[in-house]
Amino acid sequence: MSTKNKIELGIGIKKPVRSISGVTPLTVVLAPRKCNHGTCIYCPGGESVPQSYTDKSPAIMRAMKLKYEPYEQVKVRLNVLKLMKHPTDKIEIIILGGTFLQYPRKYKYNFIKKIFDALNGKSSKDLQEAKKINETAEHRCVAMCIENRPDNCTDKDIKEMLEFGATRVEIGVQMPDDKIYKKTNRGHTIQDVVEATERLKNAGFKLGYHIMPGLPGSDKEKDLRLFKKIFQDEKFRPDQLKIYPCQIIKDSPLAKTYKLIGYTPYNEKETKEILIKMMKIIPDYCRVMRMMREFPKEKLIEGTEKLDLRKDIEEEFRNKGLKIREIRMREIGFNKKNLNFDVKIKIIEYPASNGKEYFLEFTNKEDILFGLLRLRIFNKTAIIRELHIYGQALNLGEEGAESQHIGLGKRLMKKAEEIVKKNKCKEIKVISGVGVRKYYKKLGYKLDDEGVYMVKDL
Ligand code: SF4
Repeated sequence: MSTKNKIELGIGIKKPVRSISGVTPLTVVLAPRKCNHGTCIYCPGGESVPQSYTDKSPAIMRAMKLKYEPYEQVKVRLNVLKLMKHPTDKIEIIILGGTFLQYPRKYKYNFIKKIFDALNGKSSKDLQEAKKINETAEHRCVAMCIENRPDNCTDKDIKEMLEFGATRVEIGVQMPDDKIYKKTNRGHTIQDVVEATERLKNAGFKLGYHIMPGLPGSDKEKDLRLFKKIFQDEKFRPDQLKIYPCQIIKDSPLAKTYKLIGYTPYNEKETKEILIKMMKIIPDYCRVMRMMREFPKEKLIEGTEKLDLRKDIEEEFRNKGLKIREIRMREIGFNKKNLNFDVKIKIIEYPASNGKEYFLEFTNKEDILFGLLRLRIFNKTAIIRELHIYGQALNLGEEGAESQHIGLGKRLMKKAEEIVKKNKCKEIKVISGVGVRKYYKKLGYKLDDEGVYMVKDL
């Protein structure tokens, strides 16, 4: 690989961790609202603070000051990111603070429209126009993540998320066990998780599970057994995880009852042990986005205080030379020493949720990951759920930025199209962040009639 290509991938560029995987995340917080089913026993917030957060979390305090106005939140964050010298041309919008899909339609619509307006730096007449403007705006929304519940993923919900421009959905799965769900007042069943998983994947979303070991009603053995099931059983198989061991947080129902029910969360040693065991199980196609919830110390009644356990765990793996398959451990951004740039495409095929998944990766001999693509084929439908080239986020206009995409990205797309043809599908669809549509246009794709997917006839 040439020096130019090295620069394109971010080698030799000072790396702010925030944008290490290619895009800059920007969080927008919802106004407080209680979830329809009640409150899961470990969950704080809901009344005057966004559900699942505390009034001492920095993101919430910032949003509170701005009265949870989405336009202001985006504007202020963009300015801060610029000051911190983070690239702001490729933004991933992350919506958090409760179950977004349960808010009134008018609130949801305006919330999303204002996010786009703020990115565009001007007001638009409706959401459709705002998205259109964003295709060529200075701050493009290249991805959007919505946090959701498994029982809020009906066809109607999915249609709405697509209309809003979402590309990634995270659902709370915790541990797939109906008895635990009952005990923790989750208000849904395993069947809801299974159905949501299939619908979301069929719609092309990148799918993340929130996982919670150490819940009341579980134990280490059970946690591990259920965690294995998530990957062994083709009805689950998520693309990403956030692993948040259960803690007792002030203002949560559990804080009032844990003594009565004789519950104790895992301590630091137990937490570390279970996380290590979990990491060893995670397959090549799954990325752990986060480990440990960052609750402020004064809100933590009992549970592990150490928030950077992941660092220790990963260091231990690296020192012992253990091969962990999980994506983030293998990403180029976290493996910049002695890099070999001779990369090849590797394809992993696996069944999932009544379909076939193809996971294409660009890796070198040492298994360092440079880019990936997720292709799903079901009922003669082919959909690309993710295309990601790793490395430092570069500004769209910056020299080399275009080839950062077109080089490895284009080769992955070509390979995916070959697979789709072999599977005798007539067209290929891509779920695309509004700000990436232009890129797919260059590869011969066009926006479908509903204005949702980029499509190409094969
Ligand atoms: S669904 Fe999520 S946000 Fe709602 S109460 Fe449960 S954990 Fe909290």
